[in-house]
Amino acid sequence: MKVRADIAELLYAGLSDSAIARQLGVDRAAAVAPARAALRLPKAKPGPKAYASAEDLFWRRVKPTDDGHMEWTGFHVGRTPAMRHGGRNLTACSIAYRIANGRPAKGQARPSCGRDHCVMPGHHADQADRAHARARSKVIQAWAGGLRRAGRALEREREKRVDALYAQIFGTPE
Ligand SMILES: [Zn+2]
Repeated sequence: MKVRADIAELLYAGLSDSAIARQLGVDRAAAVAPARAALRLPKAKPGPKAYASAEDLFWRRVKPTDDGHMEWTGFHVGRTPAMRHGGRNLTACSIAYRIANGRPAKGQARPSCGRDHCVMPGHHADQADRAHARARSKVIQAWAGGLRRAGRALEREREKRVDALYAQIFGTPE
């Protein structure tokens, strides 16, 4: 049988069949128990569960690529790498951002490494980072523009001096 990715995720996270059924709104006997059997997972032990943290779940769903990025092996919402934790859908990029920066992303965390859907921690920018990068690129543009103008002014000065020297030697043309 084909096991639903979100069910598999919570099974691997150690939740009980009834907890998974509740969280995902699926039937315990029809959907969760057969998935557990298909994945050959033992029944969850009764009693309070040590909930895996979002970070723990994240690390179990990433795969490094040869060129220094990471792919998502978990499920996707649309094309966005996603996972369920604490009854919510989270984007993998937001978890990666939190791992790398030690704080939640402000607004959406998106890959800033140029690779679509990369989930490598450290390869993301949030809204504040993007605004900061825009401001920084404005400063650099202004600096480059200023340098060009200063260069042109220097060039004009030099031409004037050469002209003056030329005039001294050969006299001013009539
Ligand atoms: Zn990347």
